[in-house]
Amino acid sequence: MMKLFRYLKPYRLPIGIILALVFVQSLSELYLPTLMSDIVNFGISKGDVPYIWQIGGIMLAVAIGGTICAIISSYMSAKVAMGYGKLMRGKVFNHVQHFSLQEFDQIGTSSLITRTTNDITQVQQVLVMILRMMISAPMMCIGGIIMAVNKDAKLTLVLAVVIPILALAIFAVASKGIPLFKAMQKKLDHLNLVLREGLIGIRVIRSFNRTTHEKQRFNDANTDLTQTAVKVNRIMASLMPIMMLAFNFSTIAIIWFGSERINAGSMQVGDLMAFIQYATQIMFSLVMVSIIFVMIPRASASATRINEVLDMEPVIRDQVNGKQTTSQHGYVEFDRVTFSYPGAENPALSNISFSARPGETTAIIGGTGSGKSTMLNLIPRFYDIDSGRILVDGIDVREMSHDYLRSKIGLVPQKAVLFSGTIADNIRYGKQDATDEEIRHAADVAQATAFINEMPDGFESMIAQGGTNVSGGQKQRLSIARALVRKPEIYIFDDSFSALDFKTDAKLRAALKGETVNSTVILVAQRVSTVMDADRIIVMEEGKIADVGTHKELLEKSDVYREIVSSQLSEEEIA
Ligand code: ADP
Ligand code: MG
Repeated sequence: MMKLFRYLKPYRLPIGIILALVFVQSLSELYLPTLMSDIVNFGISKGDVPYIWQIGGIMLAVAIGGTICAIISSYMSAKVAMGYGKLMRGKVFNHVQHFSLQEFDQIGTSSLITRTTNDITQVQQVLVMILRMMISAPMMCIGGIIMAVNKDAKLTLVLAVVIPILALAIFAVASKGIPLFKAMQKKLDHLNLVLREGLIGIRVIRSFNRTTHEKQRFNDANTDLTQTAVKVNRIMASLMPIMMLAFNFSTIAIIWFGSERINAGSMQVGDLMAFIQYATQIMFSLVMVSIIFVMIPRASASATRINEVLDMEPVIRDQVNGKQTTSQHGYVEFDRVTFSYPGAENPALSNISFSARPGETTAIIGGTGSGKSTMLNLIPRFYDIDSGRILVDGIDVREMSHDYLRSKIGLVPQKAVLFSGTIADNIRYGKQDATDEEIRHAADVAQATAFINEMPDGFESMIAQGGTNVSGGQKQRLSIARALVRKPEIYIFDDSFSALDFKTDAKLRAALKGETVNSTVILVAQRVSTVMDADRIIVMEEGKIADVGTHKELLEKSDVYREIVSSQLSEEEIA
């Protein structure tokens, strides 16, 4: 957790002020009982009214001063803690933005969300506690003991008996509670996972009639968490009665022995009253320390989880000052590329070589799992390859900055992803400063205008979270429009026409042609009709290139291609 607190640096000044204020407040609290005992001893007992007024006035001033310090320090520590939480969430989020897909696979989305929200809140809460207690608890404890000894050393023996008993009780309670607190954090993680899966998979769950099963699963996780929380709180709640018992018994003992000493004339009434207050302060500070010690393990479990994220170095490093090109635009070359997913036994791609240039369409066809998407995902450098080179405009993608490389690319992923917002917002995602005209044109080419106009607010219609209120084919067309508006040098379509009917598919490809004359197009498709008129067709089989050529050439020389073709087209269509 210490490691996380180094991010508190920007708050050095306010933290210094808070600690100073708490220091002053604690001093005032330590001073008040002494003032009170003075009033009783020298004022009331002697009937000296002006003296009572004088010391009473000082007491009032000290109390008000202490309260003002307490208010300001509470306010400031709340601000510091909230600011710190904001800073940490930003840090984690920014760090995660640099993750390659591999790191996402590793930690898991659910856990990343919990870590950015709940875990940071835990650390934030303990920070408030520490800021408030770090100075005041030891001061009240040690200062209280000194003041108590000062008032009456013999009576301090009562504390010597009570404090160890109280400390022992606190220790017993804390050692039972701490492991449960840690367990709670894991159970919360699990609850989040179940909830997230249940919400995201709602369609599948309903269609397979697994609602009861999911309910049960959620119930189990929920009950599990609740039971642990109840147990922890029961244990922690027992601290209060124990404390009160110790308080009250020690008060009885102090009054008992104190009255004897007063009787004997070796102690004054005011001192006895002050002594009781110091005893209370000492015991109270012990309880505070114990609460911090219970909260710290819980927060440090959270801190470890946050650190895990922050310490995770993305495998792929961005070249901030990467090379740039001016001479070439839209050239893509794979040079003997071999790639395996982390942990996979066999390479997903082996020895892939081909090149594509502006004005050309390169089509990739092949069975599912043959590595088509993998190949496309390597061009924007979502993963790094094992051997070989991928050149974009003559430069290795590893030597370019991500921003520069990706600004050249318009990617339409296999699984169309839309963001909540209007349709226009979603298309504008491809180019921030796109004009309405450009957006309308992109939608036109993507054959999306017709259905957009049918929607209640046209381009201003809202897309629901995850794009659930448009069909699969509509989603595909919107994500194609998003790539088009960018006017990139390289278009990458990963099976982006699969959810379109044949007619729309043909219309879209005809419109695309005019749009992409000066760009490089690399597309993956399942349908032969989609790839037929490409300049180059790459036939993939089990991560290797089986054959390359035009439709005509491949019909003659490639068995794999002929197989694909004959499974889709009739004899006349082939000829
Ligand atoms: P295609 O797009 O041709 O259907 P992919 O390129 O998606 O095939 O997948 C090729 C192979 O790589 C498959 O065997 C698949 O199991 C594997 N694969 C795909 N994505 C991942 C991933 N994120 N982690 C590990 N293996 C993967
Ligand atoms: Mg694919």
